[in-house]
This record gives sequence, structure tokens and C-alpha cells, in this order.
Amino acid sequence: MRLIILAPPGGGKGTQASRLSDQYNIPQVETGKILRQAVQEGSQLGKDAKSYMSSGNLVPDEIMIEIIRNRFAEADCQAGFILDGFPRTLQQARALDKLLDEQEVELDAVIYLNVPVAVIQERLSRRRVCSDCGATYHLDTKPPGQTGICDSCQGELIQRSDDREEAIEQRLKQYSSKTEPLLEFYQDKGVLLEIDGAQSISRVESAIDTALTESQ
Ligand code: ADP
Ligand code: ADP
Ligand code: ZN
Repeated sequence: MRLIILAPPGGGKGTQASRLSDQYNIPQVETGKILRQAVQEGSQLGKDAKSYMSSGNLVPDEIMIEIIRNRFAEADCQAGFILDGFPRTLQQARALDKLLDEQEVELDAVIYLNVPVAVIQERLSRRRVCSDCGATYHLDTKPPGQTGICDSCQGELIQRSDDREEAIEQRLKQYSSKTEPLLEFYQDKGVLLEIDGAQSISRVESAIDTALTESQ
């Protein structure tokens, strides 16, 4: 299975991608997580990406394409993957096409979670993430068993620095100007599956499963 999950920030990409990754036994390639780890480690990539991320802007395409090229070279991506957070611009989408062509493989589907802005703002402001393993929670819709503590690793739950008002606004702007054009791009290729992403987590799960089955 070669999948992309596309949604506005906070639309539920990570939540659904991690489940699909288990279900299909394919790696979840999460560019936001790769970048956050680089920032934490203080590597050159982290230094280059940090200011873009904290202001809610996109990291330059060349950097992102290089990350994906390297990640695809790893053995676990040979049998498939789910891309979570990439591509986010037309230039990234075209570069991805080229990488897939080189490997003579094709995308199975682009799962698009359609979520209205009002819902997104609520989701982002109530999101909490594990500072150790990156697992994602929501104060109301997906609370941890114990307040402030990660269910899977007991790490401390924190709010992402870009999940605050000013950065959220900028991320939404970037999404509508740079990422939304991808909907037409993938629609034209006939691989776009549109899902109502404003439903509960379990309903979104079953809607994705139905759409994937019907598309095969
Ligand atoms: P969200 O899950 O809220 O959509 P991500 O964790 O995917 O956010 O991404 C966090 C930040 O990392 C983005 O706001 C952006 O700065 C950067 N980023 C992640 N993926 C990409 C990408 N494909 N292109 C450019 N920037 C990216
Ligand atoms: P993304 O990766 O697109 O930024 P997340 O998967 O991190 O989105 O989800 C954003 C927030 O909304 C998280 O707090 C998550 O627990 C919560 N969430 C995800 N999907 C749903 C849903 N269908 N209904 C309610 N809350 C959700
Ligand atoms: Zn954890």
C-alpha cells in the first residue's frame, strides 16, 4: 500500500496514519515528526527548519524533498508507506511523482480529510503530545488515562509550541495557499478519496476503510 494522507493542520492525519500504519504494516512517514526530532537533537536540519516551524511557515521544498528521498531509500519503505505531512506544495508533489516513477511504483490513494476551519482551531488548541514518543492526545476526544501522562510511555504531555494562536493562523494560511491546490492535482490523477473528517475518530476510521476498499 502506498498512501498519502492529506488534511489541514490538526485535521487528524497523524491519528489516522498511525492506525493505517498498523493495519497495513507500512511505515508512517511523518515529516513534522522528523523535523521536530531534528530540532530537538540540534542537528543542522533542525537549525535550518526551526524558525519556519515555530512561525507556522513551511520549511523550504528542497529540504523536504531531500528528507523524503533519504527516507525512501530505507528498506522498510520498499513494500509501501503512508505519507503524513508530505507533500504540502505542488513542487513537493511533483518531486514525489518523480521519485515514484524512478522506483516504478504508483500511489494507491490520497486520503483527504475534509475538516472545516472552526473544528481545526478547536482540535489544535486542545491537542497535547507526548514529549518523549510524540503520541497525540486531545483533552476531550482522546484523553490519556492519567492527566498529563502518556499512555504508552509514561512521558510528559505538552502543548506543541506551534499549536498556539499566532502560529495556527499562519499555518492555516499556508495550508490554503500552498497545500489546497494538491486536491485538484490528485483529483485529476483519479486517486483522491475525500472523507468527512469532522466526524468522530472511529467514524473517520470506518469511512476511510470503506473508501479504500471501494477504490481497489
Ligand atoms: P500538523 O500535524 O499540525 O499538520 P506537522 O507536524 O505535519 O503539523 O508539521 C509541523 C510543521 O513542520 C509545519 O507547520 C511545517 O513548518 C513543517 N513541515 C512538516 N512537513 C512539511 C512539508 N512537507 N513541507 C514544509 N514544511 C513541513
Ligand atoms: P494532524 O496530524 O492532521 O495535525 P492529529 O491527528 O494530530 O492531526 O489531530 C489533531 C487533534 O485532534 C489531536 O488532538 C487528535 O487527538 C484530535 N483528533 C483527531 N481526529 C479527531 C476526530 N475525528 N475527532 C475529534 N478529535 C480528533
Ligand atoms: Zn509517550
